[in-house]
Amino acid sequence: MRAIVVSTPGDSSALEYAERPDPVPGPGEVLVQVAASGVNFIDVYHRQGRYPLPLPFVPGSEGAGTVIATGDGVTDLVVGDAVGWASVLGSYATRAVIPASMAVSLPRGLSPELAAAVLLQGLTAHYLTHSTYAIRPGDDVLVHAAAGGVGLLLVQIAKLLGARVIGTVSTEAKEKLAREAGADEVLRYANFSEAVREITGAGVHVVYDGVGAATFDGSLAALRPRGMMALYGAASGPVPPFDPQRLNQGGSLFLTRPSLAHYIATREELLGRAGELLGWVASGALKVHISERYPLAEARRAHDDLEARRTTGKLLLVP
Ligand code: NDP
Repeated sequence: MRAIVVSTPGDSSALEYAERPDPVPGPGEVLVQVAASGVNFIDVYHRQGRYPLPLPFVPGSEGAGTVIATGDGVTDLVVGDAVGWASVLGSYATRAVIPASMAVSLPRGLSPELAAAVLLQGLTAHYLTHSTYAIRPGDDVLVHAAAGGVGLLLVQIAKLLGARVIGTVSTEAKEKLAREAGADEVLRYANFSEAVREITGAGVHVVYDGVGAATFDGSLAALRPRGMMALYGAASGPVPPFDPQRLNQGGSLFLTRPSLAHYIATREELLGRAGELLGWVASGALKVHISERYPLAEARRAHDDLEARRTTGKLLLVP
C-alpha cells in the first residue's frame, strides 16, 4: 500500500509518501480500503513531535472506506461494509487497520468522503456542546476560529441547541462563512473580550477555545461568573503554566482541557454521539464544509495550508 510516513518529527517535510507492506488485521480488527482521510490539527502536533509517538508512524486519526478483510473474533462487520472512524492512528494511507470497536457503520446514503470529513471534528463539537458544557437555550457562547473545521460545526450545533453564538475569525472571508453557519456576531481577535462584554453585558456562559496561547487570557476575561473555559486545543501554541487563583478572580470560573478520546471511551458513547451526528448530517441540519481535497501524496501541502491559517472547514486527503 501507499502511505504517508513520519520517521523524524519536524516541519511538513517530515511527511514522506512511501510504499509500505499491506497491514494485516489482528484479532478484533478490520482492514479498510480508505476512500478519504480527514486532516486535523492533531496530525500537526503528531508530526511535530509535540504529542510524541513511537517512530516511524503513519499519521492521520480519521477516515472512512470499505472493509476488505476481518480479523478473528469480528462478528458485527463483514467484507464490503462501509465504515468510518476517529481517534485511530494510521489513516494517511490507502489501507488502514481499525479496531472493530472503533468502527462506525455508515448509514445507507452517507458517502465515505462525508463521513471522513465530519467524524473527528463532529464528535468533538458534539461532546463539547453536550457534555463538557451542556448548552441550554439562551446561553451566550464564544467559539474561537469559528470558520475552522471544529469551529464551523460548533457554531451550527450551538445554534441547534438555542444559544446566541459569538465567533472569532481572522479574515473577512472567514467571517462570511461563520455567519453563514449561523453565528450571531463575528469578531476579529483584537480586543475580543471587550467586544464580547459589550454584546453580552455579563460575559459568555462558555468559551470553546481551540486556539490556545494567543486567546487564553482574553477567553477567561470574556466569561461571566461561574462560566466554563473549555480549552480544547492549541493551534497558536500551548498555554503557559497557570495560577488557579485566576479562576477565583474571574468569578469562580471553571477550566477544563478535554480530549475526544475520553468522551468516546466506551462503544456505547461512541455510537450514541456518532448516531446523532450522522443523523444531523443526513437530515441536512448540519452542513459539512469541505474546503479542499488533496491527493494523499500532497499531505505536506495540506499541513502547510492548515498551519498557515489559509484553510476553512474540512481538508481531506484522497488516496
Ligand atoms: P482548524 O480548521 O480550526 O484550523 C486552525 C484554525 O485556528 C486556523 O484556521 C485559524 O483560524 C486558527 N488559528 C488561530 N491562531 C492560529 C495560529 N497561530 N496558527 C494556526 N491557526 C491559528 O483546525 P481543527 O478544526 O482541526 O482543530 C481546531 C483545534 O481543535 C485545534 O487546536 C485542535 O488541536 C483542536 N482539537 C481538539 C480536540 C479535542 O478533543 N481536544 C479534537 C479535535 C480538534 P483563524 O484564521 O480564523 O484564526
